[in-house]
Amino acid sequence: MNQLSDRINNLSTSATLAMAAKARELRAEGKDIIGLSLGEPDFNTPDFIKDAAIEAINQNYNSYSPVDGYVELKQAIITKFKRDNNLNYSPSQIVVSTGAKQSLYNVASVMLNDGDEVILPCPYWVSYNDIVKLNGGVPVEVQTSIENDFKMTADQLEAAITPKTKMIWYSSPCNPSGSVYSREELRALADVLKKHPNIYVVSDEIYEHINFKGGHFSMAEFEDMFNRTVTVNGVSKAFAMTGWRIGYIGAPDWIARACNKMQGQVTSGANCIAQRAVITALEASPDKIKFMVDEFKERRQLILGLLNEIDGIKTNEPEGAFYVFPNVASYFGKTIKGKKINNATDFSLLLLEEALVATVTGEAFGNPECIRLSYAASQDNIIEAIKRIKIALS
Ligand code: PMP
Ligand code: GLU
Repeated sequence: MNQLSDRINNLSTSATLAMAAKARELRAEGKDIIGLSLGEPDFNTPDFIKDAAIEAINQNYNSYSPVDGYVELKQAIITKFKRDNNLNYSPSQIVVSTGAKQSLYNVASVMLNDGDEVILPCPYWVSYNDIVKLNGGVPVEVQTSIENDFKMTADQLEAAITPKTKMIWYSSPCNPSGSVYSREELRALADVLKKHPNIYVVSDEIYEHINFKGGHFSMAEFEDMFNRTVTVNGVSKAFAMTGWRIGYIGAPDWIARACNKMQGQVTSGANCIAQRAVITALEASPDKIKFMVDEFKERRQLILGLLNEIDGIKTNEPEGAFYVFPNVASYFGKTIKGKKINNATDFSLLLLEEALVATVTGEAFGNPECIRLSYAASQDNIIEAIKRIKIALS
């Protein structure tokens, strides 16, 4: 008998991690799966960061750190926010967590009461929906279009607001669409929020450095939004440090204090060795990671060019992160290799079974017409994967 809580029974499994696990399983059975499902840089963590971690071990960093992070790390984060984002946070406004995912969870848990609505422009990052629900919130999905580069407009935001709206969560550069909101587009959203002073924003900027057009802008840079925005960031993507599990927020004092209190009961703070290494990572010039960004940019052109050779797949040009999010709805209703394709999930499964390529269904991101392909994979793998997809579909 299932004795689990309703909370966990109602929680979906992370589709990105589930697909990665499925690909691993099939590989163990001897299948030659190409994984384009997980958003995880395929680079090693740079040596200068690894060296800092080794030094921290040798210096006997082995005790609990302050729950909200080492003072020196918070200082490095403050300097980074000033240097890269023109944001002036004080130490009491910074909380270091076990990955940006935990940062997001903290914010949901300290901000949401049952029934509070959270506006999620679609496509949104896979975990937003479930993190909100797990904390009693109600996700309100706002559909965007590929023609508008999957961005929410001011009118759409206005129309989605109700007396129950508590927050808006978005990522820019966006996972899964790669879209980057410009200063003007964010200003238009902020102008709507002027009329609704009790709505808060979560601006997830974890892909900040993986931006091919330049000009990253943070919502909190607007003076009238600084005290209403939680800026989320982390080192997983920019520094190829997914497994090190360090993320952080810059937030109004009262929200940061609450996240600190929450963490004090749940984790006692993030891993101390990883925190010491992240000081070195954040203090380094962003030039040190430019080689990865350059490589992602080349791969973006490669994968877009190859996908556009396939009939019925519609793409736009992502401006950041390392994903493409093509619309595959023209295949719905068709039967391919004896399998009826009713939706994006069927399509993604077809690619796994017939092309041995792992992708993620757009349904997990609130968009039922698209699939997500991560190009955090070698150029050879990208070429081979799209070749196989093309063959399976033809
Ligand atoms: N936000 C977005 C948009 C992401 O893609 C991810 C992926 N990992 C996270 C947050 C969580 O990152 P972390 O590894 O720091 O938990
Ligand atoms: N954020 C990555 C992704 O979207 C990693 C997986 C996860 O954290 O869910 O694929």
